[in-house]
Amino acid sequence: MEKYDLVVIGGGPAGYAAAMRGIDFGKSVCLIESKRVGGAGVYNGALSSKTLWEVSNRVNYINTFLLRDGREPYELSWEHVQKIVGEAIFERKFQYSCHIKLLQNEEISGLLQFERGAASFINEHEIKIQSLENEKVVYGENIIIASGSRPRKLDHLNVDEKHILTSDGIEHIDDYPRSLVIVGAGVIGCEYATIFSNFGKTKVYLIDRQDKILPFEDDDIISMVARNLENQGVTIHHNANLKRLEQVGDMVEYELEYTDGREEVIRVEKALLSIGRVPNIHSLNIENAGVHMSKRGIHIGDDDTQTNVDHIYAVGDVSGRIALVNMGEIEARHAVERIFGNKTTRISYDNVCTLMFLKPEVASVGLNEKKCIEQNIPVKVVKIDYSLIARAVAMRKTEGFFKIIVTNDVEMRILGMRAVGEHASTAIEGVGLLIKMNAPIEVLSELVHPHPSIVEGIQECVRMLLNKSIFKSTVFKDKMSCYSLVDGVKTPLQRL
Ligand SMILES: Cc1cc2nc3c(=O)[nH]c(=O)nc-3n(C[C@H](O)[C@H](O)[C@H](O)COP(=O)(O)OP(=O)(O)OC[C@H]3O[C@@H](n4cnc5c(N)ncnc54)[C@H](O)[C@@H]3O)c2cc1C
Repeated sequence: MEKYDLVVIGGGPAGYAAAMRGIDFGKSVCLIESKRVGGAGVYNGALSSKTLWEVSNRVNYINTFLLRDGREPYELSWEHVQKIVGEAIFERKFQYSCHIKLLQNEEISGLLQFERGAASFINEHEIKIQSLENEKVVYGENIIIASGSRPRKLDHLNVDEKHILTSDGIEHIDDYPRSLVIVGAGVIGCEYATIFSNFGKTKVYLIDRQDKILPFEDDDIISMVARNLENQGVTIHHNANLKRLEQVGDMVEYELEYTDGREEVIRVEKALLSIGRVPNIHSLNIENAGVHMSKRGIHIGDDDTQTNVDHIYAVGDVSGRIALVNMGEIEARHAVERIFGNKTTRISYDNVCTLMFLKPEVASVGLNEKKCIEQNIPVKVVKIDYSLIARAVAMRKTEGFFKIIVTNDVEMRILGMRAVGEHASTAIEGVGLLIKMNAPIEVLSELVHPHPSIVEGIQECVRMLLNKSIFKSTVFKDKMSCYSLVDGVKTPLQRL
């Protein structure tokens, strides 16, 4: 039987990162993947959906100018869209497969062994790998489970991935649907609502059980995103409970019951279920290794990334914690460093930078106003509108804002930031770093920023806090604001 220092189950972002960190330590690593290396980080997930979003955004951008001038909208066939998504996927797949192939070469590393097949536990050290052609057993001194997750379905719904779909099927449809209902107004549901409404070919309905989409975010962000969806023709069914959804002929019919007692029946061409994900543990025979489960996934307990069996770790979506590529990778690297590097510091889930690919994109780090009120933390808040940022003006994309939240004292340490608008994703990381370093805001106020760049907006926010901004809030009252937020009460702060 082949023996390895580390066996990794699953070649998605988390498993891949674990295997690569393992060979850094000079250890022999066996990486097992049952389907496609890259997992949901590439296929029917992060990369594919972001490629779709990027393309839809560009189509939408061009069409705002064409329609404004009374011209015909630009049309991109769905076939063409899929070709672009396919190219992005192929590029990533090619990088992964060349990388793996070369790392298996004795002359380059010889430490990595890639196995294609479904892994399952025989006991706490032995793993069976079942492929179409054969079956083999490998021994792992240490084992990392990174088998990821799949879309959650509802038992009573016949998800055929043609009429009623999940994120696994939506990117493989034959053409733009004329109409689409999205069940679930969380991040991924709202992202697909943005994508399909951006293309302008689909009437989108979004079912939201609550009175607001994205209920964890601040109201200024929610209202901008919801307004933009609605302006693009999306119908958001708020406070709606899905009573029935079924295929009727070639259509899908759904019935809603609202909290005020109203009922509604609507027919659409396709339905997308976006109601979360469940961990991939069904075929692992995890009980043979004695690993405990929690309600959300593999039980991690107090020992970060380590299961109740000392040499078995679980990382990424399978643990049911934060389902993000970056967190899966961080957890994986952390687990390997614990195993081979005697790392003792705990993994930190604070101040994770996140993105939502909506209209406009939303980037977040640290606390928002809602959380500060919930946790009763007195803060100062500063906001600047994108229309005052030269780069946004140049891009003709002036919708959005930066919001920075700092401690309500003279030090004004940054607790959180929200960037809502074009290039928001590129603006968030610097502030994330400042929060991590607990650095004072002066650092940002004097740094020479590139011009024109979106991050100049962050600098202007910081300068506003220090009462030395270039534009003055007394003039641009509707575009610049600064207030304290104490006990849930907003009090404007005097700035020139
Ligand atoms: C539509 C969508 C959009 C998303 N957008 C983003 C985004 O913008 N940013 C972001 O950070 N995250 C995003 N995510 C989340 C992100 O894709 C996941 O958090 C990430 O892929 C999880 O990585 P993972 O390695 O834990 O699991 P996965 O990516 O699920 O990979 C697990 C791998 O394990 C394999 N496997 C399973 N069981 C076995 C077995 N028994 N034996 C061998 N192999 C096995 C699977 O085939 C799979 O390849 C998105 C997800 C979806 C669905």
